[in-house]
Amino acid sequence: MKAFAKTKPGRGGVECLDWDVPRVGPGEVLIQVMAAGICGSDVHVYHWSEDVIREYQPTLPLVMGHEFSGVVAEVAPHVEGLKAGDRVTANPVLSCGNCSFCKGGRQNICDHRPLLGAGIDGAFAQFVSIRSANVYRLDDGISFELGALSELACVALHAIEKVGLISGNTIAVVGAGPVGLTTMILAKHSGAGPVLITGLKADRERLELAKEIGAIPIEAESMDASRQILEYSNGLGADVVFETSGSSAGVIQSLNLVRKGGKICLIGLAPGTTGIPTAIVAFREIELVGTRAYTSKTWEKIFHVLLNAGEDLKRIITHRLPLRLAEDGFRLMETREGLKVMILPWQ
Ligand SMILES: [Zn+2]
Ligand SMILES: [Zn+2]
Repeated sequence: MKAFAKTKPGRGGVECLDWDVPRVGPGEVLIQVMAAGICGSDVHVYHWSEDVIREYQPTLPLVMGHEFSGVVAEVAPHVEGLKAGDRVTANPVLSCGNCSFCKGGRQNICDHRPLLGAGIDGAFAQFVSIRSANVYRLDDGISFELGALSELACVALHAIEKVGLISGNTIAVVGAGPVGLTTMILAKHSGAGPVLITGLKADRERLELAKEIGAIPIEAESMDASRQILEYSNGLGADVVFETSGSSAGVIQSLNLVRKGGKICLIGLAPGTTGIPTAIVAFREIELVGTRAYTSKTWEKIFHVLLNAGEDLKRIITHRLPLRLAEDGFRLMETREGLKVMILPWQ
């Protein structure tokens, strides 16, 4: 088969090459990949970012990719509930199942949780094998491309559930990338309103899309985002701010947008340290909530969400590329031209 792999450390160092079809180990399922999205964390692997390399310790060569959907090609003996031909997607976090976090239902912060495409071979390939417990059948109403957005949608849904977003809350989303837009869409579908989203000058088209989907866009380089939020919240500020930009500036901006007693949900990964004015956090009783990935419970709920919000979510897909042009997809992500780039390995 063909696979798109990181073969050399450092920036870039990727190749589309011939690769053995993965062996189906005990309890595993072989899936023919139909669609696979390029995620921000794939870009981190592509750039060989220190934080991500330290966390996942990849050994090269490594097939990249973890957001995917496809068709079951083969099932190991004794695996129940799945058969060849089933349309599926999968949770790419292989949490251990034995640590105290897994046992408490918090598989996302498991002590040992390799991620497909970062720690072990992933889905930018014609076939991928993964343990059956992580595989979910797709409803007929969910296309392969929408199915490949499940993982991203799970990130947003877990964050929304973590802060206990309630209907009618005023929401601000900082950052208009794929995670920001997905969070905005799911917040809107959870009954939040108004939902504001901030971006940079370079995000003009992304903010335009956010507006079409029903959010209030704020281009934060030429507009005063905190003034805007006050206008939409009776002078209070946002009940919940989702920080998705992964920058120190975004974290500080979040503090300027949140109301007294409000919550800031940190989804983005700002590199290094951020100078948070802790006295403001204390005096205003602001809650900083960390969130990471999703749990099995999130996956059980996500397909219902995809059926409801699918039309909006599909709009974030900007490009479709065959496997051999996957590196172009990374370039599109770097220039912000690509919002969600789908790799179609059967093309
Ligand atoms: Zn992802
Ligand atoms: Zn665990």
